[in-house]
Amino acid sequence: MPTKVEMEKIVSLCRRRGFIFPSSEIYGGLSSCWDYGPLGVELKRNVKQAWWRAVVQERDDMVGMDASILMHPQTWVASGHVEGFSDPLVECKSCHLRWRSDDLEGDNCPSCGGELTEPRLFNLMFKTFMGPIEKEANIVYLRPETAQGMLVNFQNVVNTTRKRLPFGIAQIGKAFRNEITTGNFIFRSREFDQMEIEFFVKPGTDKEWFNYWLEERLNWYVKLGIKKENLRLRQHAKEELAHYARECYDIDYLFPMGWAELEGIANRGDFDLVQHAKCSGKSLNYLDEETKEHIVPYVIEPSAGVDRSVLAVLCDAYDEEQDEDEIRVLLHLQPSLAPIKVAVLPLSRREKLVAVAKKIYADLRQCWMVNYDDTQSIGRRYRRQDEIGTPFCVTIDFQSLEDEQVTIRERDTMNQIRIPISELKTTLQAKMDGESLLVLPPGGKIWKIEREEG
Ligand code: ATP
Repeated sequence: MPTKVEMEKIVSLCRRRGFIFPSSEIYGGLSSCWDYGPLGVELKRNVKQAWWRAVVQERDDMVGMDASILMHPQTWVASGHVEGFSDPLVECKSCHLRWRSDDLEGDNCPSCGGELTEPRLFNLMFKTFMGPIEKEANIVYLRPETAQGMLVNFQNVVNTTRKRLPFGIAQIGKAFRNEITTGNFIFRSREFDQMEIEFFVKPGTDKEWFNYWLEERLNWYVKLGIKKENLRLRQHAKEELAHYARECYDIDYLFPMGWAELEGIANRGDFDLVQHAKCSGKSLNYLDEETKEHIVPYVIEPSAGVDRSVLAVLCDAYDEEQDEDEIRVLLHLQPSLAPIKVAVLPLSRREKLVAVAKKIYADLRQCWMVNYDDTQSIGRRYRRQDEIGTPFCVTIDFQSLEDEQVTIRERDTMNQIRIPISELKTTLQAKMDGESLLVLPPGGKIWKIEREEG
């Protein structure tokens, strides 16, 4: 049975160490909005970078883009959001709290037990006005998903990149939803980041590509270091399918509050391109060069949330170990995700030691995010780094002044190896790449251990 960390522990660590704060906290916070602090912003960037690398950088059949958040309002008419992007809302007749009726277990208000109104549909899109006059004709929406920005640019991308089917567009960006019920920390907020792919294929090959992306995306989370037993695929039942979807699966993660969606993967058929062609009057056909026929591609859409990935990564990495009389809190983040890759720790503040440590610090930060810390005991400094997931600490001691060697201490095993300063960068790089190294004898030759497959 997989073990679950309590959400309070994650929230408290994030607050304490500067990963995530409540938005505009000095004013009492803004409901369901969050600010990523100095460590959180690094973790989030690393998650986005890992995704971009896997779906754009390392592939021939994908390109990226960055569409604007505000789009022509007709976009949302065509996509069906104006008409149908709604949740059923009920209101308590006594305390006036509002709830999503499909989230409720009983017939009464979960807060005061009062009687509830009949459900009415509540559109989740945030509205604002374009230009200086606040009138109906000037309404624009904050996009509730990044997908439409890519779909309306289908023809632009085909024309400028000469990509041929099958190919995809990827985008990372903000989305906004005026959610009725929020909560569970950054799991459901009103402003969040999405990482979405629109993958265009020939009709008839859609099932095959749908299955391909299911596997590809599930494996991405495993490669990110998330335990397989905490991930599952869940197929949407017919009655649960969105209006545009022919088939849909969720990738769920076992969050502290239970299984919940990390990413949705849908076969959207030709719904979007047909709709946008109809509403814009522009052809979104594609000329199939083999058959010389004009076709409307089908779209496979893997749609992930950055914040939910960040939360899953944190929950999965969190660990507590008994270390003598203390509990050692640590994040087993893989090096590519860790906000800080290396901490440089001089054993004392003596001038000579500091000079060497500062030089190492200046050199290493050319390659990675590096912390320099010379406060408190070395044990405490190690603990502080463990808690934020720093995989390696480099300690400079008095012996270093004589033999030009330093100690690398590893977060997970607490093993220490001593190596020449001249070998430090290459050794750290090899370790970050997951290579096992053996250093024999202290300060001597470095041996690379071949990794066993599997
Ligand atoms: P849910 O059923 O949880 O409301 P959804 O099915 O409406 O999610 P999609 O429209 O499929 O979500 O959006 C794709 C992804 O965007 C989700 O898998 C999730 O990771 C992320 N996402 C959606 N809504 C939110 C939100 N309010 N806060 C944070 N992330 C979100």
